[in-house]
Amino acid sequence: MEKVNKNYGLIKNYGNGQFLDSDAEKIDIYSPLDGSIIGQTYSSGMKELDEIVQKAKLAQPKWAALSMKSRSQVMYKYRELLLKNRDELAEINHIENGKTLDEAYGGVDKAIEIVEYACSIPSTAPNRVQMVSRGVECKTEYVPLGVVSSITPFNFPVMVPHWTTPQALMMGNAVVLKPSELTPICSAKMGELLKEAGLPDGIFNVVNGGKDIVEAICDHPDIKAISFVGSTPVAEIVYRRASSNLKRVLALGGAKNHLIVTPDAHTEMASNDILAAATGMAGQRCMAASVVIAVGDSDHIVKAICEKAEKLIPGDTMSTIISEAAIAKIVAYLERVEKAGAKILVDGRKFKAKYDNGGYFFGPSVIDYRGTNVEMPAEEIFGPTLEILGAENIHEAFEIQQKSPYGNATSIFTQNGRSAMEAASMMDAGMCGVNIGVPVPRDPFSFGGIKGSKYGHGDITGESSLEFWANLRKLTTKWNPEDKTDWMS
Ligand code: NAD
Repeated sequence: MEKVNKNYGLIKNYGNGQFLDSDAEKIDIYSPLDGSIIGQTYSSGMKELDEIVQKAKLAQPKWAALSMKSRSQVMYKYRELLLKNRDELAEINHIENGKTLDEAYGGVDKAIEIVEYACSIPSTAPNRVQMVSRGVECKTEYVPLGVVSSITPFNFPVMVPHWTTPQALMMGNAVVLKPSELTPICSAKMGELLKEAGLPDGIFNVVNGGKDIVEAICDHPDIKAISFVGSTPVAEIVYRRASSNLKRVLALGGAKNHLIVTPDAHTEMASNDILAAATGMAGQRCMAASVVIAVGDSDHIVKAICEKAEKLIPGDTMSTIISEAAIAKIVAYLERVEKAGAKILVDGRKFKAKYDNGGYFFGPSVIDYRGTNVEMPAEEIFGPTLEILGAENIHEAFEIQQKSPYGNATSIFTQNGRSAMEAASMMDAGMCGVNIGVPVPRDPFSFGGIKGSKYGHGDITGESSLEFWANLRKLTTKWNPEDKTDWMS
């Protein structure tokens, strides 16, 4: 590809079933594939948000009054439309985010999988009824919250809005989605497709912009719950601000995922999986492998990773970086640790990209701290970088992993069952793996980290998400007048 040659025009806010004009300032949208401007969107604020929320508030009770099964009919139809529009969505995902086409299709397919889970909610949601005492029955029921919001990052423009939207809708809420201002085009398409699927106007809405609109969402009195996915500093800001306004908040943050590698690990499998986990989507995913803790003499595996990394071609076998600013941040990190004395085994600054078209290309990098007295910085890089630490035994490796301020994912590569079992109980993260680089739990298992990778209770997908998007009403009934009347009879 030389040039993208595509312009999506002005990506407007979407409210009450229509795209809305606004006099808000506009933000340019760039394609990382060639650095060209592919459209614009609004930098919205409280005024735009309130207009949308007021309509959503009026529409939501009717949607909530439908049975879950009726709501799922819209979701089934939406799934069909996602399949029908799979190519177009993957193309937008590729162009606005810079993923390879394969990765872009992967993001759409994962979104479809979550919609399938949402379709199953009427059959699988754990509504319970029990005779709690003689003649006394207790049952639980999910009750929608009202208008809720989902704030999403740039790195998965199709998948992450689907981590939240299908379940929030299925639970009977009206949703206001705030996509990243860097990648808002797929979310506009979601509005079109949900309308075509039969979703009533006002139930799914999109409001565009950056910091101002996020602050407005945190402050709006009629938004009852907010899910946020993005970097840890912003997750913390959103969590504090929205919860101080007494909203329900779940804020997922960044990560620096440690993979432990023992000398007996399967060299081919471990090196392939770890490299793919570090460089897939150019390392711009919260589940990316960021750090290898090489236990004992595992250097043969580190060497295999480096040899394979040298063969990757940015813009061909590896995706682009989201912006020039993000590349500058990765370069600054490399310079900082190199100057301190870390060894750069593979240097992303020296890679040649497939195209010379202005795209935001950067090569994979491997930074080795073993045998030096340089301390690895705790912060997330969010690029195709892998940092290597050494440990004498797995217990030392567990200690290093446990000290990370993040707790999204971690994994061990070993062929020793005992090491695997020990790791399973020692790894300090929300999502742990054995011989897997990206231990993403797929539905109905839920997605979510711990420590600095998540503020709030519960997870964002799977069964755990149902209680986030609803209140649990408990109804206790007694119809037999002959039964005793004392409490708890
Ligand atoms: P980001 O934090 O910069 O932006 C996320 C959202 O917050 C965007 O919608 C953005 O408009 C908004 N925002 C940005 N700065 C803000 C501010 N100062 N005040 C209020 N709102 C603000 O994140 P990003 O760069 O879009 O995405 C990458 C980050 O997301 C990485 O740190 C990655 O690890 C994380 N991430 C985490 C998960 C997870 O599941 N834990 C998943 C995907 C991405």
